[in-house]
Amino acid sequence: MQHETEKAVEAQREFFLSGSTKELTFRTEQLKLLKAALKNNENALCDAIKEDFGKSPFETLSTELGFLSMDIDDHLKNMARWSRRKKVRTNLINFPSSSYILPEPLGTSLIIGAWNYPIQLSLSPLVAAISAGNTAIVKPSEMTPNTSAALFKMISSTFPSEYIKVVEGGVDVTTDLLAQKFDKVFFTGSTRVGRIVYRAAAKHLCPVTLELGGKSPAIFAPDANLVKGVKRLVWGKFLNSGQTCIAPDYVLVHSSIHDHFVEALINVIKVNDYRAENDNFVQIINQANFERLKKLILPEKVVYGGETDAEERMIFPTVMTAVQPDDAVMREEIFGPILPVIKYDHLDEAVQMIRSKPRPLALYLFTSDRKTISRVESELSFGGGAINDVIMHITNPALPFGGVGKSGLGSYHGEAGFKTFSHYKSILKKPFWFEPNFKYPPYTDKKLKWMKWALGWK
Ligand code: NAD
Repeated sequence: MQHETEKAVEAQREFFLSGSTKELTFRTEQLKLLKAALKNNENALCDAIKEDFGKSPFETLSTELGFLSMDIDDHLKNMARWSRRKKVRTNLINFPSSSYILPEPLGTSLIIGAWNYPIQLSLSPLVAAISAGNTAIVKPSEMTPNTSAALFKMISSTFPSEYIKVVEGGVDVTTDLLAQKFDKVFFTGSTRVGRIVYRAAAKHLCPVTLELGGKSPAIFAPDANLVKGVKRLVWGKFLNSGQTCIAPDYVLVHSSIHDHFVEALINVIKVNDYRAENDNFVQIINQANFERLKKLILPEKVVYGGETDAEERMIFPTVMTAVQPDDAVMREEIFGPILPVIKYDHLDEAVQMIRSKPRPLALYLFTSDRKTISRVESELSFGGGAINDVIMHITNPALPFGGVGKSGLGSYHGEAGFKTFSHYKSILKKPFWFEPNFKYPPYTDKKLKWMKWALGWK
């Protein structure tokens, strides 16, 4: 296997060095091919993902295929501009030079995807890799084997393998891939595996992007709009059965609105009619996660839900109140349809609680109060987020998406994705008509005076 992997990477390196992947016309054509392939494989992909964990075509279209189509369109529209050399100012000491920055693709990239959005998380980094002019080996998650197989089929019938190749498999295959010398590794998954990837890439001093997870809080301030705010929160929490990296993990609710909040929450969940048979709800990915989630439910704290179905791997929307910081549900990323609600009296407490945990991938704040917004923005560090909404920040390609600290390293989407797969060459271009002598020996007091003036050394 090692030999085969080596050969695959070598073939991509050779293809990259041919220079074809850099041409704007080539990149445009490839992105169009990918978009057409997604369209042609719509049914196969929807069926595969349904087979893997019961995700409905509605969610697959809105959160995976539609997202990718938007992503590709954004790159097609802006790629030429992003690829241009950018003139920058030149400082006095370099007079009369000009300066510019030239983006170039990093080269041969490896993209490792997670299972929860198995199409989007493998292909959205690929869109950025193509757009910037790289080759790519894509390793989808083995936890969604049908989707992985459908991606393999789609990609291998659309692109030559020396340009883009899907490699299927689990830990052994990923370990083997990580032993190779790539020019870029882009990983989406858990913080635990993120560390393994980072360590492996360090051997080759290979640049990495790590899109990881964590506990993303939502804060409901005293003035929060409970009618629309709770509706948005519930949608984002139970989408994909809570198996979303930026799902609101837990809610901090001001004590003055706590009871109304819980009432509104339960009402919205009831209206949304989360039942598997009407396609509104997806399965928990596997038995191990089903068992893990079941253990997080404390029956005495459940105010809504708590029902599970082992045969169908279903955990129905569950709300827990009076949750304490040391309850199991607050000690790990939930990644499932369980929502702990925690009361706070002063914003300081909410800030303290969030600060006591690793910096989250997302943070959501429901308020119209400018002071509260400014305090939360300045006192808390998090990947990104939304005010009066959840999850939707991910759909704006103008917003770089990524974590900070344990929730990730680097970002992508839109131009941020293009930058992630590019190196920026900085160039200073100098004519010969002017050659001040003060930097050359022999060093004299007069030259030193000139030097100090040119450097702004007062
Ligand atoms: P995971 O880390 O278990 O797996 C991700 C990938 O790593 C898979 O392709 C898997 O084959 C590979 N892998 C697993 N163990 C490995 C090992 N020992 N060595 C090398 N490779 C290995 O993550 P997951 O369960 O697929 O996804 C869930 C996690 O991902 C959650 O923490 C979630 O928050 C996070 N996530 C983050 C984002 C984001 O964009 N930031 C998106 C989705 C999921």
